[in-house]
Amino acid sequence: MPNSYDLVIVGAGALGTFHAYFALQRGLKVLLLEKDARPMEATVRNFGQIIPSGMAEGEWFDYARTSLDTYRAIQAEYDISIRPTGSLYVASSSLEMQVLEEKHARYQAVGYASRVLTAAQCRQRLPPLRADYCAGGLLFEQEVTAEPDQLIHRLLAYLVARWALDYRPATPVREVTANGAGCTVVDARGQCYTAAQVLVCSGRNFNRLFPDLFAQSDLQLCKLQMLATYPLPQVQLPGSVLTGLSIRRYHAFHACPSFAQLRADDVAPALRQWGIHLLFKQALDGSIIIGDTHEYADAGAADTLDFNNAEALNQLMLDEARRIIDLPDWRIQRTWNGYYAQSKSQELFQASPDPRIHIVTGIGGKGMTTACGYAQHNLARLDLQRHALVANT
Ligand SMILES: Cc1cc2nc3c(=O)[nH]c(=O)nc-3n(C[C@H](O)[C@H](O)[C@H](O)COP(=O)(O)OP(=O)(O)OC[C@H]3O[C@@H](n4cnc5c(N)ncnc54)[C@H](O)[C@@H]3O)c2cc1C
Repeated sequence: MPNSYDLVIVGAGALGTFHAYFALQRGLKVLLLEKDARPMEATVRNFGQIIPSGMAEGEWFDYARTSLDTYRAIQAEYDISIRPTGSLYVASSSLEMQVLEEKHARYQAVGYASRVLTAAQCRQRLPPLRADYCAGGLLFEQEVTAEPDQLIHRLLAYLVARWALDYRPATPVREVTANGAGCTVVDARGQCYTAAQVLVCSGRNFNRLFPDLFAQSDLQLCKLQMLATYPLPQVQLPGSVLTGLSIRRYHAFHACPSFAQLRADDVAPALRQWGIHLLFKQALDGSIIIGDTHEYADAGAADTLDFNNAEALNQLMLDEARRIIDLPDWRIQRTWNGYYAQSKSQELFQASPDPRIHIVTGIGGKGMTTACGYAQHNLARLDLQRHALVANT
């Protein structure tokens, strides 16, 4: 049966593609359908920071660690743009440094490697760091970065070549249904595919397939503005660089005893209003990626988010960036935005309109770090192997 599969996956972002990876490893016959000729949503517009260190302890931290191991394992076999460049959180005050030291002690207890750096050691690693900003830092040498504009395309190429994935780009799905015989997926040209199970990992576009479920969901959309300088190969800024604002934002630090002493009004009101938290990553061409802002709208009112980038927000980010690092050239080569869906009440949105159709989206701002580990767990949960055997009998 040429168009019959154990599993059809809709959407070739991080969630869909990693579900495909683990399903193929289980020996399933998998079809991955992507609406665009090349995926171009959140999975290609992000920083490419793969940072378990940002996750609160618990299952999502564990998914992040699984992801880290898996990224490394795939990279050892096929170049998917993973670089072992580490992550450094830079504290801007003695109180932020105290939070980092508390987190370090906690990581020692749970066996996740980290190293406290003095301000001088931070500046040795990141020469552009300003002395009047840096009070010290916490380094995670084992963490990695990816090139988001390359990662998913190379991963898809690897899955096709190594695991015989049936991948069909430029194939928008218009309908997913189930009946006694299994699931039917119809694409925009009217082509039908049948499967024992279907996974819908369509990111912010999930309203197109299940509008009623979408309308009842607690999903919201987040718009992020991003900037990149011209290539600055003379600048040395390796790995993921996270700042005092990240220490305040990331859940990893919220349980630290001193976290409660960090005062919200120490942060400029405009930065708080636009959810600005400064991160840096140097891309392979030497350009420095700077971000990001966070603007939210309920998923049903997503069109209230302006599709333009606000220059005033770019300037706010750049002003804050100049307090943190010195660059020889601050001209911006390109700006873009990205959107991710996130559940307001859960780490991820899941729904099964039929026992064989599973929607998985709304992973929020942590998808490059956690989608891989989560996908491995989710496939075990769905027990796809059993369903596949049932479908084949
Ligand atoms: C600016 C920005 C920076 C970020 N930085 C980081 C970071 O550094 N680290 C980190 O961990 N996370 C980061 N994230 C979050 C991360 O990018 C997302 O969590 C992740 O990419 C979400 O993956 P996804 O597969 O759910 O969605 P998507 O990437 O949106 O993929 C969904 C796919 O489904 C396809 N699709 C939709 N509908 C259909 C249909 N009907 N038929 C066929 N195909 C369909 C879409 O074309 C798309 O390719 C960032 C996000 C943004 C926006």
